[in-house]
Amino acid sequence: MAAIRCEAILLRAVDYGESDRIVHVLTESGGRLTAIAKAARRSKRRFPGTLDVFNRLAIEGRVKPRAAMAFLERARLIDPYLGIRVIPGRYALASFLIEMLDRLAPEGIVGEEAARLFGFASDSLSLLSRVEPTASLRLLLELRGLDALGLRPEFGRCVRCGRVAGEDIAADHRIHFHVADGGIACTACAMRLDGLIPIERGSLRALDRGLSADIEELPGIALDARMLAQAGRVVFRFQRFHVGVELRSERFLDEVLPVAHAAKSAPDPVSAS
Ligand SMILES: [Zn+2]
Repeated sequence: MAAIRCEAILLRAVDYGESDRIVHVLTESGGRLTAIAKAARRSKRRFPGTLDVFNRLAIEGRVKPRAAMAFLERARLIDPYLGIRVIPGRYALASFLIEMLDRLAPEGIVGEEAARLFGFASDSLSLLSRVEPTASLRLLLELRGLDALGLRPEFGRCVRCGRVAGEDIAADHRIHFHVADGGIACTACAMRLDGLIPIERGSLRALDRGLSADIEELPGIALDARMLAQAGRVVFRFQRFHVGVELRSERFLDEVLPVAHAAKSAPDPVSAS
């Protein structure tokens, strides 16, 4: 059996049997991991108030090759991100991001890929425990989450011919987002495509900046109502097409931070021709 000793964020936990707890965690060095904590509900010594969602932990355990579950032997609390639990908008957004990771984060990844996912999870929980949750922040964090999971939309150049937005694509040309290809299309290429969402340059730039900026700068990127509707539609359609699942926490999030309201009720994407 191989030993596990690393940091992890708790994504989901369910009681099992008399006193066990099954946990799903995102580890800093190995992606998603499912583990059983034997007698967790009785042992205040090995698991002192640690096995709750959002908690950042230092975990120790063992994993058998090809076993469905690892054994979690002890966990120490590093950060409970308490600020998330006191404001509904923060809680709803954190729940959504954590559910996205629980559903989509791969198991058994290593190196940079695992570190990038863990970095996204810990940085966004840390940010959310301190800042005011807004619809803009929701949109940008969702986009960053998709990027961390390996789904990065292309906002810089046409996905069909490679023309660069702002250089080869003249300012008076309309830009569209092609949902299936996951990126923007120039006017010429858009003529031959279906499934397009028109998007203005300002909205495009805000999304692009949301992907490239330091995560601490995201609360400073404010989209107005018009940009939110456009950008929200792009992110929502992109997510649905490429992820294909509706997350349970999305409805609650829509009530608390309704960014995609207009985006979701808008008619289907159209052809530019
Ligand atoms: Zn093109």
